[in-house]
Order: sequence, then C-alpha cells, then structure tokens
Amino acid sequence: MRQDLLALPAYKAGQKLAARDDVRVYKLSSNENPLEPIPQVLDAIVAAASEVNRYPDPLNSALISALAEKLGVPQEAVAVSTGSVALLGNLMQVLAGPGDEVVYAWRSFEAYPIWAQITGATSIQVPLRNDFDHDLSAMAAAVNDRTRVVIICTPNNPTGTAVAATELHEFMARIPADVVVVIDEAYAEFVTDSFAVAGMDFFRTYPNVVVLRTFSKAYGLAGLRVGYAIAPTQIADLLRRTAIPFGVSGIAQAAALAALEHEAEAFAQVRLIVAERERVTAELAGQGWGLAEMSANFYWLPTGADSAAIQAACADAGVAVRPFPEGLRITIGEPAANDRVLGVLAAYRATR
Ligand SMILES: *Cc1c(COP(=O)(O)O)cnc(C)c1O
Repeated sequence: MRQDLLALPAYKAGQKLAARDDVRVYKLSSNENPLEPIPQVLDAIVAAASEVNRYPDPLNSALISALAEKLGVPQEAVAVSTGSVALLGNLMQVLAGPGDEVVYAWRSFEAYPIWAQITGATSIQVPLRNDFDHDLSAMAAAVNDRTRVVIICTPNNPTGTAVAATELHEFMARIPADVVVVIDEAYAEFVTDSFAVAGMDFFRTYPNVVVLRTFSKAYGLAGLRVGYAIAPTQIADLLRRTAIPFGVSGIAQAAALAALEHEAEAFAQVRLIVAERERVTAELAGQGWGLAEMSANFYWLPTGADSAAIQAACADAGVAVRPFPEGLRITIGEPAANDRVLGVLAAYRATR
C-alpha cells in the first residue's frame, strides 16, 4: 500500500435523517435540487432504461456536441465524466504529482484535499478572507514554480460567496501561463450578481483556464452522476483519455441531453430556488445574522463552536444540515423545510 494514503480522509457526504412518524424529514445537507426532474427528463430516463443491456456511448458524443453548441466552443474542448468531482480528480492526475503544489482557498470543497492527496501533490490551502470570499492576492502570492494548479470555487462551497470578475482578472494577470486555473462552477446557474465571475468569459480570455460544471445541482441530476469540463484542447483530450471507460451511463447521458434541450423548464426550477434563497436570506437578515451575499443554492452561517448544537436542533426538527468546524452550510430546499430551520435559528438567536 502507498503509505502516504493511509491517512486519506474519507469524503463526508451530507447526513440523511431516518424517516419519522411525527414529522416529515428533509435533507438540506447536500445542496441538492429539492424538486423532481422535469417530465421531459423523466421521459428520457425511462426511454434510456430499456437499453441498459448495451454499453453506453463511451465518447458521450451527443452530449458533448450539445454542450459545445450551447457554449460556443469546439467539441475538442469538452470532456464529460461521472460528475465534475470525477473530472477534478482526472485533472489533478494529468496536471500534478508528487512534489507539485495545488493551491486553493480554505475552507472550500472538501474533495480538493482528497484528490490532491491521491495524486501525491501537496495542497496549499489559503485561508478565506473575513468576508468568507477567496483571498485572491494571497492565493497569487502562494503560487511558485512548484504550482501546477489553482482551484477557484465560485460560488464557494460551503460559504456561498461568488468571486468578483474584476478581482479574478487581476489575479490572472499575476499567474504564469503554465499554471492551470480551474474554475469550479458547480453552482453557476444560481448566480444572479452581475459582478460575479462567469467561467466561460475566463476560458475565452486565457489559454490556461479550465471550467468545471455539473448536472447535479441546478439540473437536479445528482443521482445520475454527470458533469463536464471546458478545457484547452490538449487538456480536454487527456481528460477524455484518463476517464473511466463507459463511466457515464446511457441513462445519465440521455437525461443530461434532455435537460439541455429543455433548459427553459429546468431553469424555471432554478428561478424558484433563487427566489426562495432571497426570501430565506432576507428572513435571516431580519434575525440579525449579518450574512455575506449568498450566490448559490445554500447559505452559510459562521456559527463556530455552536454549529454542532444548532445542527442537532435542526435534526430534532427533522432537517439535516451540514456542519463544519467553522459554521453550518444549509441548502435552500422545500419552503417548509427552510421555515423549520428559520424557526430553529430564531430560537438560537433568542438565547444569545
Ligand atoms: C456539488 C459540487 C461539485 C460537483 O459534484 P458532481 O455531483 O460530482 O458533479 C463540484 N464542485 C463543488 C464545489 C460542488 O459543491
């Protein structure tokens, strides 16, 4: 065994509460879309189910072609895999190894340190600013000749803040062209602020940018495992060659394709979730939380040492939320679930 992997942390998935007789339980711990897939996507899933005796298209041709057309990039720039988490792992594999450094903000998505460790690269974690956003000038200062990859998570999971485009342009000017900047945009579709980074603008402007996107969040296909990367052609090619063969099932390919074809319906769900985010964050402001601007389908409460107690109170109320050492990440879910959490949070504030 590789001794350096013996202490590899396991990925902690969001908690799911057991069903109860007294109340309906809700899961606000994994940033999932609370709404069922749109009918067109369900139909595509059912139709594709009758072909599972066959291997899926290993090249993901139809999906890649639809994505290339939607984004206005050559098909050679697109790679598809089993969630953007898989593409992230493949990226680390093809770009970094022992002795190399991967720079990212912390706290951020917990898959980053795990993948870095698997590839043998060294993680350089740059603390977030006090407003829970990336400290891009400290991140640029952390880049040296061992750096292979910088990851920018915008909006950041778990703090919900979006990086400003002007700040990322200033950052790019300080980054050598042979360092790859990965913009992880898992929540891009929920962003409504005009100041925020749009990853594709950066892909078109700089030769060393990779954009990661997923069907898991806004498109509501977390259970099917499909995501994509937009990358410089040589990197996209390596991503396709290192992907697990036949990884993305035919059902997942068909569902993703249907979601793209019926994006207007899929994005109507996104608008509902964004409206609910605005309602919930306005309530939280009324409770006096003083939140940063939340740009994804979740919100962050810097509750520090109280996080576990609040998580337990939410669980008592039938809602699973996601605790971190520094705070709580709570998904925008069904209005009834959001209201239950708001009730717990109001009671918590009343005790302080
Ligand atoms: C959810 C998420 C992903 C993607 O997950 P997949 O389901 O693997 O596509 C990627 N990055 C961040 C920051 C996420 O929160």
